[in-house]
Amino acid sequence: MKKTIIYHTKKHLSLITCMLIASGVLFIGVCTYLAVTPVKGYSPAAVTKAASLPATVVSSRYDINYPVIHDKKIDTLLRSYASKQVTDFTTKLGKDVHDPRNRMTLDYVLQHRGSQFATVLFTQREYLVNSPVRTERVVKLFDIKKQVELSPKDLFVSESDAQVFIGALLYDYFKQYAAHDFTQEQFASLLQLNMSAIHNIALTSDSIVLHLNPKNPASDQDIQTIAIKRSLLDSVLQPDYTNDDGGVDVPLVATYTISQQPKQADNIDPNQKMLAMTFDDGPGNYTNKVLDTLRRNRSHGTFFVIGRQVPKYADVVKRIVQDRNEVGNHSWDHAFLPVLSHDQLAHQIDDTQGVIQQAASGYTPTLMRPPYGATNDDVAGYLQQKQLHVALWNVDTEDWRYPDAQAMYDRIMQSAADGSVILLHDIHPTSVEAIERAVPALVAQGYQLVTMSQLERYR
Ligand code: ZN
Repeated sequence: MKKTIIYHTKKHLSLITCMLIASGVLFIGVCTYLAVTPVKGYSPAAVTKAASLPATVVSSRYDINYPVIHDKKIDTLLRSYASKQVTDFTTKLGKDVHDPRNRMTLDYVLQHRGSQFATVLFTQREYLVNSPVRTERVVKLFDIKKQVELSPKDLFVSESDAQVFIGALLYDYFKQYAAHDFTQEQFASLLQLNMSAIHNIALTSDSIVLHLNPKNPASDQDIQTIAIKRSLLDSVLQPDYTNDDGGVDVPLVATYTISQQPKQADNIDPNQKMLAMTFDDGPGNYTNKVLDTLRRNRSHGTFFVIGRQVPKYADVVKRIVQDRNEVGNHSWDHAFLPVLSHDQLAHQIDDTQGVIQQAASGYTPTLMRPPYGATNDDVAGYLQQKQLHVALWNVDTEDWRYPDAQAMYDRIMQSAADGSVILLHDIHPTSVEAIERAVPALVAQGYQLVTMSQLERYR
C-alpha cells in the first residue's frame, strides 16, 4: 500500500549578514530575508533591522534549508540549529563578512520520520576565499514522543557498553570482509567510537547508521556510512529504539551494511595465558550482571543452562550468544543422567537443545555438561550421537557450598592458571559478586577469558 502521509515540509531561508552599530558597540548580526517560505517567529537575537539588499544577492551567499516536521518544539530546535550555523559562520568570518565570495550552504535529508523518532542528516558546506571547500555532516536525532533532541548516549542502555559492543562488531565485520590489519583499539579510535566524539549516529526504520566525516573536509569522496541492522544491537539499545516505529525512510546507500552477526574474529593470542569461566544452572536473575561484567572487560565465558529455565529467560540466552559467549546444555531439569531411560535421556538433552535454539535464533550448543559430571556408557553414547562433547571442569570453586563473596573471590584468584576451566554458578548473588571482582582482576593479570570451545582449540 502506498503511503500518502506527508511527514514534513521544507523551509528555505535566505540570509545576509549586516553590521550594526549601536551604542558605540560593533555587532555582527544576521539579518533575514524570508524569501521563499515565510518562517514565522524567526528572529535571531542580534537582528534589529532588516537589510535592504535584494533577496537574489542574498541567497547566493547563504542557502539554508531545514525540514519542518510539524512538531512545535522540534521544529523550533531545527530552526535554531539552522540559524546558529549561520551566526557561527559569520562570527568566524569576522571582518571578511562583507566579502561576497564567502558563502555557506546547509542542506538536509530527512532520513527517517516515524511515530517515535526523526533523523535529519545535515550537510554543511563552507566556501571561503583562499580555502578549500569545507564539508561537514551532522545528524540530528529527535524523539518525537518525548519532544526532545537525542544524543547518542540516549539511545543506549550504557554508553560504554555500546561502545565496546559496536567496536567489537565492526572489528569482526571488517576482519571478516575486508583486509584491514589493525587492532581492535586502533579500529575503535579510527572510527571515533568514543561516544562523545560521535555526533553522527542516525536511526532508520531497521538500522543505526554511523556517518563518518571525511578525513579530508575538502572532499566528499571519503565520507563513509556504516549501516548496522538494529536487530544486532537489541542488547545495547534502549527498548524505545529497538523497534521499527512505522516511519518512512529516504533510501540509504551505505558504504558498508552489516545485516548479520559477523563471525567472531579470533582475537586470542595463543602465547598469552587463558582460562575458561563456566557458569552453571542458569539462566537466572543474576545472569545479566555476569554478562555486563564480561562485556565491560571484553571477556567471554560459557553458560551451561538448564532447559526448563530457558523460556523464562529467553532474552538473557539471546544476549549470551549476541555477546559472543558460549551456551552449553546442562540438561532439562538438572537430572542425574545415568539412571534415566532412553526416552527420559532424550527429553533431557533434545528439549534443552530445542529451547536454546528457539531463544537464540537457531544457535546450537556443541557442549554438554552432565549435572554432577555424572555419565555412563549410555549417556556418553547418546551425546556422541547428538554431536555433543562432554565438558567438565578442573577447578571447582564449590561456590554453592560457601555463600561468601570474599572467600569465593579468593578461591577464584588462587586457583586461576593457564588452561583452567573454573566451575561457578550464576544463580547465587555471592558468586556473582565474586565474579564481578574476579573478571577485571584476572584480565589485569594478563589472562584472556575465553569460552570452553576456544580454550579447547588452544590448550
Ligand atoms: Zn549444575
